[in-house]
Amino acid sequence: MGEPDYWIWTIQIGRWRYARDLGIPIIDITVKSGIQAFAPTWENLNAYRAGVMDKREYAQRYYEKVLEGFSQDQREWQALEVTRNMAFACYCKTGDFCHRHLFAPLYITYLQSLGRRVQFLGELVPHPNNIGLYARSEN
Ligand SMILES: [Zn+2]
Repeated sequence: MGEPDYWIWTIQIGRWRYARDLGIPIIDITVKSGIQAFAPTWENLNAYRAGVMDKREYAQRYYEKVLEGFSQDQREWQALEVTRNMAFACYCKTGDFCHRHLFAPLYITYLQSLGRRVQFLGELVPHPNNIGLYARSEN
C-alpha cells in the first residue's frame, strides 16, 4: 500500500473555519446551497425531519435519488476528482444521522471503481491529532 490518492472526511458546515485552517476544502452537499447531485430532495428531507419518514426509508430514497442521477449525468462526480483531500458538508450536527454519512461511502466507492486508493477519515472535528494535517496541506 502506498499513500492514498484521496482523503475523505465529513464535516458539519459550521466548522468550515477549522477545515480551512487545515487546508481541507469543504464540499457543500446541502439541498439548500450545495451540489444538488449529492443532496437529498426537499420532499424527502422534510418528511424525515417531520418524523413521517424513518431513517431506513430516508436512506433508501436518498440512495435511489443520487444513484439515479449518477446513471444520467456523472459530471459532478468527475468534477470532484481533482480534489484529493475534501470534507463532505451539511448542516446536521456531528453525531446525527444524515446524508453526508450516506454520501461519503458512495463517493469513496466511485473513486475505488476508478482504481484510486481512498482513505476515509470520518467526521472532521477539532482534535489535537489533526495537527499533523497542517504538514500535509502544504504539499
Ligand atoms: Zn445533513
